[in-house]
Amino acid sequence: MDKYQQSQKNKLFKTPAHDPYCLPRVEGSAICSQCGAAYQAGNWTWKIPENTVIHDAQSMICPACRRISDSKPAGTLTLSGSFLLEHLNEIINLIKNTEEQEKAEHALERLISLTDSDGALIVTTTGIHLANRLGHAIEAAFKGHADYQYNDDEYGLSVSWTRDE
Ligand SMILES: [Zn+2]
Repeated sequence: MDKYQQSQKNKLFKTPAHDPYCLPRVEGSAICSQCGAAYQAGNWTWKIPENTVIHDAQSMICPACRRISDSKPAGTLTLSGSFLLEHLNEIINLIKNTEEQEKAEHALERLISLTDSDGALIVTTTGIHLANRLGHAIEAAFKGHADYQYNDDEYGLSVSWTRDE
């Protein structure tokens, strides 16, 4: 896909191409001093490929840890409806298990917090992919209805899920 096609695709889905927290791109290698994630060949990972030696890695804070300390989620899910209160533990377990899987593959996709707000559960994430995956996992497991809204001006995704009865 060339740059033009890429920009058309981005317009179509209204998904900003880059997380501003990932910019500017780091030169060389780095290690996050908070979570230990490593930056190598343009990606943040948990595991450095074998036989790779990181030379002169800079110590810095990774984009996910910065979002957590700034309380600036990229993804927000708002879960509501009477079904939620009756199945709260199952839903929270699904959210945590889904995060474990996503985070293992993508070091920057993490949960920030789960907060109770007037009978709704607000879930915030460091990445939009985790928010998207959580929305689909909840729909697949518990039915209900989810709505996905990509922000136009700021990099982010808001998911609203609800199920009554
Ligand atoms: Zn980190």
